[in-house]
Amino acid sequence: MALEVYFEGVDDLVDHKNTIAKDKSKPDAKYIAAVGSLCDALTTIKTALKEFTAEFEEHIVQKRCRAGVCHGLIACAVRSQTDPNLAAAVAICPTNAIEDQRGEFTVNDGLCIRCNACREVAPGAMEVRDRFPAREAVAAAAAGG
Ligand code: SF4
Repeated sequence: MALEVYFEGVDDLVDHKNTIAKDKSKPDAKYIAAVGSLCDALTTIKTALKEFTAEFEEHIVQKRCRAGVCHGLIACAVRSQTDPNLAAAVAICPTNAIEDQRGEFTVNDGLCIRCNACREVAPGAMEVRDRFPAREAVAAAAAGG
């Protein structure tokens, strides 16, 4: 299980936090409050890891965001070259990432900031894809797909 190392890491941090909290040589109120905040943050992280284990593993291992919102894992692409709203998508793109390559529009991934403006004005012309499709193919092959 890939996330076990993260659980262990959080446990180590909580243990370290408990050791710090017991340190009588650090009675400063701000210090104690900071330790308390650290504890809250660690608990939140650990709870999230436990409640959403499959989603975290999918992001970390497969480099895939099923919801299509994690910018590092998605890429914007032209879905339809003939969609009537494609010109609007090109016009609204703030970084000119949608480029005309001899009559075929493509998205320059290096320029795209994943602002989603193109999909809002032209949902039929633009789409979000996995940024690492090879990993998806490998995962599907491993699963017998
Ligand atoms: S997501 Fe934003 S930056 Fe990327 S192609 Fe669409 S409009 Fe341009």
